[in-house]
Amino acid sequence: MQYVLALPNGDLIPYQLERRARRTIGMKITIDGLIVHAPLRIRHADLEALLRSKARWITTKLKARQAAVVPEFEWCDGAELQLLGQPLSLSIMPSSRNSGPRREGDVLKLAVTNSHDHAMIARKVIQWLQKEARKDFAARLILLAAQLGEPTPALFLSNAKTRWGSCNSKREVRLNWRLIQAPPALIDYVIAHELAHLREMNHSARFWAIVAKLYPGYRSAEQALKVSSQQLYRLG
Ligand SMILES: [Zn+2]
Repeated sequence: MQYVLALPNGDLIPYQLERRARRTIGMKITIDGLIVHAPLRIRHADLEALLRSKARWITTKLKARQAAVVPEFEWCDGAELQLLGQPLSLSIMPSSRNSGPRREGDVLKLAVTNSHDHAMIARKVIQWLQKEARKDFAARLILLAAQLGEPTPALFLSNAKTRWGSCNSKREVRLNWRLIQAPPALIDYVIAHELAHLREMNHSARFWAIVAKLYPGYRSAEQALKVSSQQLYRLG
């Protein structure tokens, strides 16, 4: 089940709750963001009070995934973007009018009236990446859903800061647009993971068996995604 934890400082942290036959509460950070394993009988209010008492651990862990190690992206001429794991360099061209980005090989060209308006450049490029993401993810979702033998679920792009994907019982799959920067294998893994949730809304052994069928070698993909997340989260 999906919940949102409101922290005293006003931060809203989405989390997945999985109830298990266990005595203690366990927390971990995965591609779905925060996952909480809780005993079957604990009251929800008690659980959330406990989670709030661990707010520091949760926010530190979530932030460590994006973290300060990677410098903030600079929206200027020559900046190196990534598209499907390949470098794409940003070329800012002064012009008498603004126009949308245009890709030529490994260069993304953007004509702007003010090359110092980094916020505007960021907005245009992110919009372009989101359009690419929607096309690319939709095609992958169709293929992988067919492989699993499920009708294609509805696709939405997410702008989450702490998770790569999610799937709910209404058969809606949300994928973080920032994934379009990642190599295709990692995008496929996140999609396979979320599709497997159509069958199992948890992270049980049965769930991982479905993931493995759809995406053999998922462990290395999960690992690679962890390693590159900071890089991928730099944008926006
Ligand atoms: Zn999951």
